[in-house]
Amino acid sequence: MSETKSDSSNAGQAAPETHGFQAEVKQLLQLMIHSMYSNKEVFLRELISNASDALDTLRFEGIKNDKLYEDDPDPKIWIETDKDAGTLTVGDNGIGMTREEAMERIGTIAKSGTQAFLNSLTGEEKKDAQLIGQFGVGFYSSFIVADRVTVETRRGGETTGVRWESDGGGEYTLEEIDKPRRGTEVTLHLREGEEEFLEHQRLRHMVTTYSDHVAFPILMQEEQQPESSNDANDTEEEETPEPELVWKQVNRGAPLWTQPKSQISDEDYIEFYKHTCHDFEAPLTWTHNKVEGSQEYTSLLYIPRRAPFDLFDPQSKQHGVKLYVQRVFIMDDSEKLMPRYMRFVKGIIDSNDLPLNVSREILQSNKALEKIRSGSVKKVLGLLESMAHDDERADDYATFWNEFGQVLKEGIVEDSENRDKIAGLCRFRTTVDESDPGVSLDTYIGRMAEGQDKIYYITADTIAEAKHSPHLEIFKKKNIEVLLLTDRVDEWVMAHLTEYEGKEFSSVAKGALDLGDAETEEEKQQQEKLEQESKDLCERIKNALGDRVNEVRVTHRLTDSPACLVADESGMSAHLERILKEAGQTMPNQTPHLEINPTHPLVEKLASEEAEDSVESFSQLLFEQAILAEGGELDDPATFVSRMNQMLLAVSKGAA
Ligand code: ADP
Repeated sequence: MSETKSDSSNAGQAAPETHGFQAEVKQLLQLMIHSMYSNKEVFLRELISNASDALDTLRFEGIKNDKLYEDDPDPKIWIETDKDAGTLTVGDNGIGMTREEAMERIGTIAKSGTQAFLNSLTGEEKKDAQLIGQFGVGFYSSFIVADRVTVETRRGGETTGVRWESDGGGEYTLEEIDKPRRGTEVTLHLREGEEEFLEHQRLRHMVTTYSDHVAFPILMQEEQQPESSNDANDTEEEETPEPELVWKQVNRGAPLWTQPKSQISDEDYIEFYKHTCHDFEAPLTWTHNKVEGSQEYTSLLYIPRRAPFDLFDPQSKQHGVKLYVQRVFIMDDSEKLMPRYMRFVKGIIDSNDLPLNVSREILQSNKALEKIRSGSVKKVLGLLESMAHDDERADDYATFWNEFGQVLKEGIVEDSENRDKIAGLCRFRTTVDESDPGVSLDTYIGRMAEGQDKIYYITADTIAEAKHSPHLEIFKKKNIEVLLLTDRVDEWVMAHLTEYEGKEFSSVAKGALDLGDAETEEEKQQQEKLEQESKDLCERIKNALGDRVNEVRVTHRLTDSPACLVADESGMSAHLERILKEAGQTMPNQTPHLEINPTHPLVEKLASEEAEDSVESFSQLLFEQAILAEGGELDDPATFVSRMNQMLLAVSKGAA
């Protein structure tokens, strides 16, 4: 506000110091100015969001320390322009920043994985704009429309303020200033051609469009005729007085979630989301609930349309759901409000029951908070279910699943109470339907083959590897659908998902295969006969392979391939073993079972071999082929190749 501006001056304590931006900031600024230009208006929303966050923090810290309010207790945000100077200022009397905080927060980017993110940008304006939007540009978006930005700030309770200034070129300066008013003023020196942002009407429109529901008043100056002092005795004709400038609130100012649903439009919900969650895109869906009774709270929870770039970074601090108590912001440590597997959920929860002076320690194990958390989890699951069951929203659900499905799946492990519901929301690509996002377990069960009583799945690194696995041969022959699981989390998830709707899950690569009633009596008898006849052959192969295999037995799974490897029912699959090894875990080697297909010509040939070394050579080849066919790696590939070549030569000599 003007009085503050003229009050702040260089205290003269020290000359401005020049600092270099963190390398990533410089890079981000250049990329952002280039790719965000068509979205340039966002800077105002970002600055207002920051101001509102600063006022939230002040309100929270002020509960314990009311000195922070100094003599300026009414929170506000203001927007001011100076046409002559070509500047636009967004000010707030929020918590402000110390010198160190300013350096840390607006000279660096405190997000892990920033460099990797920057490397992922393509140089293509549209794509990059979207990516940068997901990354969150915040304060730095000022540089889209400004060629110089000045931040004057003083933290509540401190005596000196600081002026930060930069032209976005790689350096910024810092100097101490006197700043009577607590809080922050960000002044944009607008680039040539950006004069539209000096027009009050334009700015007002931007505020009401993007920031109407910011909980604090956003003020702008307006011309107003002073009230005439109509003195009854005054007979002289009055001159029209000069209009005077008065501060007027531009936004509605009441937090959106406190209003009745019937008075909130979809646009209101969307703009509120963009503002509070710092997202550039509209959310996929949301749920707004007022809970009354033994617990009183309001929640407004959103599902975003796109995953943040660091969704899988364990170091990243996810700003998902913010906790308010009686409209006072308390924290945005979302793990206390949402389990990790719902880290994609954004929004607010406002409790009426928690004490206002609640500390973070109290929140560690607070019964009321736990109830709010489990109630909110149910709401989100219900929201997802209604989207999943709505045919008209199939595309939205597919978007959700592709962006966040892998995260939601973690819930099968983390949240045993809601395991069935989460499993019902999962989508799988299968041998029948390879399209994205695939089929639900209900659909799978609805079309199970006659006599089939289990849900079959295979885990692999890729869809191609999964669907060409020899383990699937019998399933193809019998038209039994198999889930193709290729996400990293799948092995871990399947270790916890043992049944759904009374149907057991069964890995096609583990244990002795029992197709239940999907196999006829005749087929079962044939199988038994084959097993009897091949006893001797199995024994010879086992002798040749020694302890490289556990047991050699006649397969039930194969129709076209000669052999495959199978893990123990209770052991880990070869795929999981590989994942763990790649992750550097040491573990006892698991010895697989080798299953052979005695009707395959190669195995028939082996059975007819007399010489022990031929049997040995053949057996090794069968074993090594089986490893390769399921995506494994050979310990000694060179010996495999030479064995294979010898065999080919022998075959071609025989044919000559
Ligand atoms: P984000 O808001 O997404 O964290 P920004 O780049 O917009 O990222 O801002 C970086 C940080 O600078 C904020 O998190 C906040 O700590 C600080 N900051 C920015 N604007 C203000 C402000 N008006 N008052 C106090 N602190 C601010």
